Amino acid sequence: MKRIIILGAPGSGKGTQAQLLSKSLCIPFISAGEILRQEIKKNEKTRSYIKNTINQGKLVKSSFMIQLIKENIQKKNSFNGFILDGFPRTIEQAKSLKKYIAIEYAIYLNIEYKDIINRIEGRLIHKPSGRTYHSIFNPPKQHNVDDITGEILSKRKDDTKKIIKTRFEEYIKHTQPLIHWFQKEKKKIHYLEIEANQSINHIHKKIINHLNKKKKYK
Ligand code: ADP
Ligand code: AMP
Repeated sequence: MKRIIILGAPGSGKGTQAQLLSKSLCIPFISAGEILRQEIKKNEKTRSYIKNTINQGKLVKSSFMIQLIKENIQKKNSFNGFILDGFPRTIEQAKSLKKYIAIEYAIYLNIEYKDIINRIEGRLIHKPSGRTYHSIFNPPKQHNVDDITGEILSKRKDDTKKIIKTRFEEYIKHTQPLIHWFQKEKKKIHYLEIEANQSINHIHKKIINHLNKKKKYK
């Protein structure tokens, strides 16, 4: 059983690593941001609240996010574990998750602000699936086209310099305290910090090594 959370600033590579791990470990990944973007499409009642909050670079209310994550953990085939990307993002969310389900691994991708800007400005997404690329660092096989479906890629509306500034401020205010919270939980949760300015594959290998190490000691 592998229940993994990936923490880090916006653009640190959480989604990219979650997708790779999901393939390697054959367990689903649950992306908080992606859940919200899908909600915008299908839920008329909450559409404008979510859209406005995301486009301001603010976090949506924790109580609202917690409910959506719980529903998704139940819905997905998470019997053999799961990877959470972008949740928890506040101490309130972490405490609520802890009450709900035990997490085994917390992976923290540590990145500097200057690297975030380059990442965010080049990010391309395949909207229907949430697959992520980067125009330079992780380009699709064919220019601006999704590798799997052949559909056109797009930019996220909140991936602008102005909004990323607020997103980063929100991260410093609400999410960074969570890193210390997880460090304190070290006895119960296998915590790993990785410098995020390494290649995608290198980081993936480091995470896999960390997950295998624990197995040996078991
Ligand atoms: P997050 O989910 O943390 O916001 P993403 O996984 O979407 O971050 O990554 C942000 C952007 O940076 C994407 O365009 C992605 O392709 C690219 N990226 C992710 N990891 C790396 C890396 N290790 N090196 C270079 N670019 C990366
Ligand atoms: P992401 O796709 O992870 O970059 O998230 C996009 C946006 O969704 C964030 O800037 C927030 O507005 C919102 N969001 C994602 N995850 C959370 C969360 N755990 N709590 C609150 N808001 C979130």
